[in-house]
Amino acid sequence: MEDDSLNPDGHEIHVDEESLRGKLTIDVLSFSASDLHTLCVCSLVRQYLTNGSIDDEGSCAFRRSVIKMVRSCFMKEGVLYHKRRGIVREVADTYAAHKQALQFTHNGAYHHGVKGTFTILAAHFWFPLMDKLVCRHIAQCVTCQ
Ligand SMILES: [Zn+2]
Repeated sequence: MEDDSLNPDGHEIHVDEESLRGKLTIDVLSFSASDLHTLCVCSLVRQYLTNGSIDDEGSCAFRRSVIKMVRSCFMKEGVLYHKRRGIVREVADTYAAHKQALQFTHNGAYHHGVKGTFTILAAHFWFPLMDKLVCRHIAQCVTCQ
């Protein structure tokens, strides 16, 4: 099952750096309610795959979204992966994991701009809002300012 609503950027990499830079000042640095929902859903996938439980505080919407996202994820030797169109990538499912993935692909790779960083990141990792988190990371990178 493909579910584009959970991965609105799909696997198409068509980030227009200039348009993203323009968005930096508008909404890229803040998360919408739907962004937070998606990030929270992703953070619950690992637990669901491990023991079948969803710490959802009784919300049906959360439960449905987690079960949907779980369909494209699997655990192997303690690592959570996302599989889409035959492409398997490691899932960064916590704030710390996002940060680590971004540091590895941006700070550890010549401080590329938005597009370059996104391309490297997307080759290794998957998580919701990758484009937005790349913009946030670069906007907050001391070396890049
Ligand atoms: Zn940088």
